[in-house]
Amino acid sequence: MLDDTAGMPGFIRSAADDSTYFRSIVLFGTNTASYKFALSRALLVLAAEGRSRVTLPELAPYFTAPLLAHVQRGKRQGTVPSSVFLEGAAAHLCGQLDADAFHALTVQQAFRYVLDVYHRLPGGESATEFFQLERGRLRALVLTDALLALSPIDRQLLDAETEARWDLVEHAWTEGSASETAGRSPTYEEASGELVLVPWRHQTRVSLTRLRPALSGYQKGHCFYCYQPVDMTSGEACHVDHVFPWVLGYRLPDVDLNAVWNLVLSCETCNAGPGGKSDAIPARRFLQRLHRRNSYLIDSHHPLRVALMQDTGSTAEARWTFLTSLETFALEQRSKRWNGRAEHPPVF
Ligand SMILES: [Zn+2]
Repeated sequence: MLDDTAGMPGFIRSAADDSTYFRSIVLFGTNTASYKFALSRALLVLAAEGRSRVTLPELAPYFTAPLLAHVQRGKRQGTVPSSVFLEGAAAHLCGQLDADAFHALTVQQAFRYVLDVYHRLPGGESATEFFQLERGRLRALVLTDALLALSPIDRQLLDAETEARWDLVEHAWTEGSASETAGRSPTYEEASGELVLVPWRHQTRVSLTRLRPALSGYQKGHCFYCYQPVDMTSGEACHVDHVFPWVLGYRLPDVDLNAVWNLVLSCETCNAGPGGKSDAIPARRFLQRLHRRNSYLIDSHHPLRVALMQDTGSTAEARWTFLTSLETFALEQRSKRWNGRAEHPPVF
């Protein structure tokens, strides 16, 4: 079992965690074909319809609708050169295989591997299952409460993120096949290691609240800057703060300031109150604290560790160099520095 909450006392499981596990499956699950994305999108539609059980023949059209759209765009849908099912999908699109035959092929071929490996993450199975397999003459999926309880906003965000990830991976596969004279094609891990937060990059700051569970587990209910207890469930009392201010991003096109390495949870006073941090650069001790936090998440094999290392460096030394060079750049750009307020005793 993968349990990224281990060692994080005070982390309370919630629907938000289930959403995080769904995202982890889409982002980190190993894959040699895009079936996991098609299944994820099918599950979200079935959840929206409130279905609690679905047989494979019933699942088939939900699964093939997004997949056919991707096959039609001509991008590769797997690392293997071909599969019976994908060839059938292509044949169906050009009218060589009728709807009934394609449906039968889907039921027979498409779900052979994806159902069994769907919940598998690097390091173990997802702690949350979104369906269970009913074995029998007619295999069926029983959709779990974790899936059915996702809110409409969760479903919408997860669907958009799945689609964005799918685009990225099939692009990598297609590029890889163009250079296969080199004898290898990119693995899913290489493709997915690119930038976990891609879907967030061009979104508003509001959607950063999706990262709250990852941040609150470490901070144990206290402000990152002053250690004052703060209600982490309240968006008003507890702000998602960019350590390096968001506006700096306009001058740093290659640095993703919206990614988790740069985000902390802060009380309202530290974030935006009088004498608060606002768009200033926080003092060196806060950067050291941020560095410790990021290393902790990486060492504890948090689902976001790949993104953290990709964004800031794979060794502690490289990550510290990254933070201090950014600090130098930021201070050159903005004269203001924030030294913080009186601090409560440290809790992390
Ligand atoms: Zn504070």
